[in-house]
Amino acid sequence: MPRIIAVAILLCVAMAAQTPDQDQVKVVKIRDSVYMAPTSGNVYMVTTPEGNVIIDTAGKSVAERARKALMAESHAPVKYILLTHGHADHIGGIDLWKEAGTQIIAQRNYVEFVNYVTRLEGFFAPRNAAAFNRPAQDAGPWRGNYAAKIEPTILFDQKYEFTFGGLEFQLFSTPGETPDHLTVWIPAYKIAFIGDNYAGIPVAEPMSFPNLYAIRGTKPRWALDWIQSIDKVLELKPDIVLNGHGDPIVGNQEITRRLKRYRDAIQYVHDETVKGMDSGKDVFTLMREIKLPASYDLSQVFGKVSWSVRGIYDGYAGWYDMNPATMYELPPSSVYPDLVQLAGGPEPVVRLALEKLKADKPVEALHLTDVVLASDPRNSAALNARIEALEYLQKKCENYVEEGWLEFGITKAKEALAAK
Ligand SMILES: [Zn+2]
Repeated sequence: MPRIIAVAILLCVAMAAQTPDQDQVKVVKIRDSVYMAPTSGNVYMVTTPEGNVIIDTAGKSVAERARKALMAESHAPVKYILLTHGHADHIGGIDLWKEAGTQIIAQRNYVEFVNYVTRLEGFFAPRNAAAFNRPAQDAGPWRGNYAAKIEPTILFDQKYEFTFGGLEFQLFSTPGETPDHLTVWIPAYKIAFIGDNYAGIPVAEPMSFPNLYAIRGTKPRWALDWIQSIDKVLELKPDIVLNGHGDPIVGNQEITRRLKRYRDAIQYVHDETVKGMDSGKDVFTLMREIKLPASYDLSQVFGKVSWSVRGIYDGYAGWYDMNPATMYELPPSSVYPDLVQLAGGPEPVVRLALEKLKADKPVEALHLTDVVLASDPRNSAALNARIEALEYLQKKCENYVEEGWLEFGITKAKEALAAK
């Protein structure tokens, strides 16, 4: 996949704080009084005779442009800001919209979610930089466990309803991509705003399987919660579903087709993983064995089934794999230097890596370069073999996230080569 496309799409996904789309935001009128500003995180405005309701605010870098575009439709006071979830690409524009007396509503898990992100800022900084192809930012000293700025003025557990400007709004807890996800339902319009529980990325049909685990680092995204949340949306029988990213889904038949397919795919992967766990299979076996049947008609350009299998497995079971060797503080790599010595030096190991690559086994080749680089991080033969293996994987790669991490690996290897 051309790097440029991958980067463009990567920058559109969650937490895209540096989306470089300079184009003017073109507002889409969904229907009378409902507007969408499509950016790397969609911003919605619902107008009423008493003022406006904003749903999501986009990331910091695009929030002002989204706001400017929406303000051209209505300058009325903003009385409510509803946050579908606490990801940075949805909450970056809160300050721009907030006025004296604006109520900001989120599901109660929002508080812990944004605290968790802030708590681990230093851990996430380099991972997000790598995942979103941007320079790493210094997170500074640890700010403590509960240091996040909590913007919402109203928090709810399961359901929150209010009527404003003659229009009824119902908010439901619908955990999925994050534990604080909520769905905004306007019964009069039969519109459901579902955040990123269907489209965490703006891709054309067929939609991608979701990231039940995002490899930049996330807590488990509970599959059964996600399934129930989609069921909740389907029960509402919406005519229009508005996503955190990408286009609206219009017509109850099409909504049902797409959401049900997505839901069933999550259920399939979850259940196959659990059945495999119960039959005593290890995580790597299940990562290889569980494939999404073609009938689900979902791509894997964003989420990968194998990563999700591991996410479900580790989410349920944690890290221990029943091997007494892994109970201790020394990882397998602690004996890699001994293996290199046993092989008579790095050359035969690198040679073997290249043979594996020729035999269409790039991951084995990568592992072998790890063996050499554990004791000699700047071994140029191993680094070159590693770059070859990563580029080999990149050529076959169809997943934007994976592609980004392969590129990160190539950059790191090239840096090590240049530092010689
Ligand atoms: Zn998002």
